[in-house]
Amino acid sequence: MIRELQVCGIQDSRTLAAMRETPRHLFVEEAMQDLAYSDAPLPIGGGQTISQPYIVALMTETLALRGPEKVLEIGTGSGYQTVILSHLCARVCTVERVELLLNRARRLFDQLRCHNISSRLGDGTTGWPAAAPFDRIIVTAAGPEVPEPLLQQLADPGLLIMPVGDRSRQVLAVVERVEGEFLARELAPVRFVDLIGVHGWNEAD
Ligand code: SAH
Repeated sequence: MIRELQVCGIQDSRTLAAMRETPRHLFVEEAMQDLAYSDAPLPIGGGQTISQPYIVALMTETLALRGPEKVLEIGTGSGYQTVILSHLCARVCTVERVELLLNRARRLFDQLRCHNISSRLGDGTTGWPAAAPFDRIIVTAAGPEVPEPLLQQLADPGLLIMPVGDRSRQVLAVVERVEGEFLARELAPVRFVDLIGVHGWNEAD
């Protein structure tokens, strides 16, 4: 899997090392374990998916983590991306709205001895005000726009990455905060599950 990521253009050695150290098969359903190291998204229950390894790598590399950062992640899901981040920064604060998924992810954080992860059940579109500001914010579900509370909770300088678009296709948006200004660019076309919440999509729609 790591070789495949390199062929696809992932270069950051810290990202590749963190992915090499994280056993993806623990994060997927038992029936899917044979596919855990192929470059594909897989179901994790509750209609949610663990992202394709290439996208995890691309988003992680783009965050350009060097070690001291505090990172906010919205959409814990299986916890796979969370564990990778936990290898690369000082603290990860992660928010998930589906209790079953969060409980499962928490057990894996303990099992893998990731002690720098704080997690919370709730609507991540409002961020985690008590723990802000964050040097980096990563949203792993797709919404119509970047939630305003997340921009407010981004440190200066800071960097946010999130899939933005309609419910069937999106682009990875990268927002950099520098000296009070927000600079946005688009990284790649992607397809993520819905970000559901006050500043995301409505669940019923
Ligand atoms: N990064 C995850 C991908 C999970 S899929 C992984 O590596 O497995 C996206 C997740 O976002 C789902 O678990 C979904 O329940 C969650 N989600 C959607 N809207 C959310 C919200 N407003 N707050 C927190 N989590 C949310």
